[in-house]
Parts: sequence; C-alpha cells; structure tokens
Amino acid sequence: MVRISKISKQDIPEEVRKVAEVIENAGYEAYLVGGCVRDLLLGREPKDWDFTTNARPETIVGLFPETYQNNDFGTVGVVNETENERLKVVEVTPYRLESGYSDARRPDSVTFSDTLSEDLKRRDFTMNAIAYSISHETTIDEFDGLRDLEEKRVRAVGQASERFAEDALRILRAVRFAVELGFVIEAETMEAIILNVHNLGRISKERIRDEFVKILNSDSPMQGIVLLEKLGMLQYVAPDLLRGIGVEQNKAHAYHVYEHLLRTLQHAADKKWPLHLRLAALFHDVSKPETRRWSEEKGTWTFHGHEVVGSRVTRKILTGLKFPRETVDLVTNLVRWHMFFSDPDQITLSAVRRTIQNVGKDYIEDLLNLRVCDRIGTGRPKEQPFRFRKYKAMVDEAMRDPISVKMLGIDGRRIMEVTGEKPGPKIGYVLHALLEEVLDDPAKNTAEYLEKQAVELMRLEEHELEKRGEQGKEKREKEEEEALHAIKQKHKVV
Ligand code: ATP
Ligand code: MG
Repeated sequence: MVRISKISKQDIPEEVRKVAEVIENAGYEAYLVGGCVRDLLLGREPKDWDFTTNARPETIVGLFPETYQNNDFGTVGVVNETENERLKVVEVTPYRLESGYSDARRPDSVTFSDTLSEDLKRRDFTMNAIAYSISHETTIDEFDGLRDLEEKRVRAVGQASERFAEDALRILRAVRFAVELGFVIEAETMEAIILNVHNLGRISKERIRDEFVKILNSDSPMQGIVLLEKLGMLQYVAPDLLRGIGVEQNKAHAYHVYEHLLRTLQHAADKKWPLHLRLAALFHDVSKPETRRWSEEKGTWTFHGHEVVGSRVTRKILTGLKFPRETVDLVTNLVRWHMFFSDPDQITLSAVRRTIQNVGKDYIEDLLNLRVCDRIGTGRPKEQPFRFRKYKAMVDEAMRDPISVKMLGIDGRRIMEVTGEKPGPKIGYVLHALLEEVLDDPAKNTAEYLEKQAVELMRLEEHELEKRGEQGKEKREKEEEEALHAIKQKHKVV
C-alpha cells in the first residue's frame, strides 16, 4: 500500500495557481489532470503541469499574454516568465471526447466536450484520470484511481480491451507506468494487453521510442524489458534482443547473452547513468549470437568481431526507432569500442592512447563506465577494482598526450613553411603520419622533431605518404571488413 498524500493548494506553484485563477475568473472551469495530479498524490514532484477546461482554444489564447499552439488536440501552451523549466509552459487542453480510431493509432478527429466527466473517460489509466480543482481544493476521481494508486495498480479506464484496441500505445504505457512506479498491472488490464499486443505493429516508431526511453530511464529498466519480452511486446520495440535468449557464452559469464545485456543495463540504471549509456549497455553484445563460433582450440565459444557487427546492428535499431542522430552516433561508437583491452599489467600507454583516439577523448569516460556495467553484468566480476583504477590512471596520463592532429606540436601552416609545399592533400597525410609516430612515442611531439620529420616525410611519394597517415584507420577498416565477411559467410547473406 502507498500512502496517498492529500493535495493542498500550497503544493501548487504560484505560476500554476495563477493560470487556474485567470481561467476561472473568466467564467470557465479549470482542473489539473493527468500526470501532475498522479505525482502529487504519490508525493512525487510533477514533471509538468496540465490543465483541462471547458474553454475552447481561441478563448484560452485570449486570456493570456503569451501562448502557443503546437498540436492538433487543441492544447494551448501558456508561457510563464520563469527560469524553472517545469513551469515555463503550463499546458491547457479543452475537454475532449474519445473520438473514432480507425487505425489503433491516432484519433481520426478531435471533438471538444463540455464536461469534465467525458474528458476523464477518454484517459488511459485510472491513476491518470483524476482531476484536481485548486480553487475548491477537491479531487474528482470517477474511476477509483485513488484506490488503485494506494494499491499500486495499473488499471485501464473502462473496458480495457476496447481502450487498447483504440490506441495500442496504451499497452506499452501500461508497462512503462508499472516499471516507473513499481506497480502491478491489474488482471483484466493484463488480459487485454495480451489480446492487443499485435496492434503495436501499427504504432509509429516515435511514439514507441518515447515510452521505451521512459522505461530505460526508470530505476528498473531490466524488469521493464523482462515484462516487454514476456508480454510479446519486445518484438515491436527491439526484436534483435530476442536473438540473445538462451545463447550460452564462455566461462567468464554466468548468464546467457540476453540476460547479460539486461543486467548490464540495470547496472547503468543503478549508477543513475544517462540514457546513451543505458542504450549502449543494452545493445553492446547484441550481435554475439550471429558472431558466435565454437573454438576447438580454446574449447569454448568465441565472438570475434561482435562489437563491429553489433555497432552496425545498434545503428539500425536506433535509427529505426527514430532516435536523434546524435544519440545514434554516441551509442554506436560506444558499442564499437567496448572491447578495449584494459589489463594495466599487460598494456602499454601507446595502446591506451589508441583506445582514446578510437572512441574520442570526449567519450572515454563513458567507455570506461560501460566497462564497469559490462563486468557487473557478467555475474562473475573479477575482484580487481584496483587494477581497473590503475588502468584509469593510465587513461588520465595518456589524456595529457596528443591523441589527435590538433594536439600536435606542429600544424599544416608550419608544415608548408618548413617544406615549401603548397596546400593540398599531402599536408594532411603528413600530419596524420606524424600523429601515428607521436601516438607511439609522445616524446616526439616537439616542434624541432616534427619539423625535421615533416621535411623527411614530404620527400615520399604521395601514395606512400597516404598509406603512413592512414595506418591506424586502415587497420581498423581491415578489422571491420574481416568481421563482417565472417558473418556473411556464416549466414550466407549479402
Ligand atoms: P509523465 O509524467 O511521464 O509525463 P503523464 O501521465 O503525464 O506521464 P503524458 O504522456 O504526459 O503522461 O500524458 C498526459 C495525460 O494524458 C495522461 O496522464 C493521460 O491522462 C492522458 N494520456 C496520454 N496518452 C494517452 C493515451 N494514449 N490514451 C489515453 N490517454 C492518454
Ligand atoms: Mg506528462
């Protein structure tokens, strides 16, 4: 049982109260509704504030100095002058009717209504269908949402099956709320979910992504994915994960691939790490199933190239879910480089510098954090935190060394000066060739040495020079090609 807080006027920020006053003073009704009421009752801080009213959009717009309208549902954003992000915009939406859904996706049209009751009836779950009047200090709870909150239950408003058939996203929202709040899904609602899962195939990727993100950002994302899988929803969200179920690994792992991924994700959540790290944790080994081979020699499974294939599969998954380009790049990069070797007793600083160069110095910390999750996710983390600390110390040291051409003790202009060469591709090749040397030995990063060496290098044929400059890159590309080639052979696909 949860103790439900009684809402009092004092819990409501001045800016929000003002909005209600303006609407009521003009002779209309104004009720807080949805997530903010639910969160107030649970003693959580509301993320944003939503009103519902019998005023129509044109009327609402006329009541406030600054407003905007950005959707088709008649919602008006009332803009407040404040630095508080949560109060900058208070949304006011006219009472609406649930209108026809011909595609389990979006209502065909929006019809406004004159009564609060009708508006509450169209809402998804009982806990989201409670309204609160600030001026009367009363809660309107027509579907026993308070009782469901108390008993920690997600229950559909009205006929569950009908409601899910209207809009299948609601079934994903049910899981999201269960996971976010630690609630259970009530039996009839659960039955209706199972009956309607297939309708998720018609929901837009953007809407699916938004709920998926909320599940991942909750405190229990592992439980969330488990629920999605058990209810047959995961195939509409990230079907590639399903391939990892029951796929056995080598002795370093207590769990099969799928469970390892979930536990790695959960650790990122336990650490309160941000979304991109949670995504990287969830997908880092997504391609282990298709790269798995039995090694007679080692007497165990190997997964050569799984990070290369996995980064491509991750890109495909995240792009498909319409994640922003920046997130896709960030996560794919972490998946690509998660296999770095980190035994401080066997590794050289130059290898550490190359790891930093591969992932980029802005992302090395994320990569180390991903490794922390990965190790916990094996279920058999080796007890060697001091070795990891030692590796981190090496990273700190290597971070002071040049790891990109921008950090060299020479630039293109100076190379042209000392070699008399005109602008052209050769300058870039020389810079990269110099970086290759400096990555191996940072002591060479002096103007004196680099200038002398630039003159030497410039004597080489252009193609030879290009080869030197691209050594690092070429090695990586060769690695990637080999890994992909092996997969294509195994699966006989293009
Ligand atoms: P959060 O705090 O995460 O924003 P929320 O409950 O506010 O949760 P929103 O997506 O912001 O969720 O929606 C606001 C309200 O609109 C919900 O509380 C619910 O009453 C209603 N609602 C949202 N989506 C649907 C839907 N697909 N079907 C029916 N009602 C919905
Ligand atoms: Mg909300």
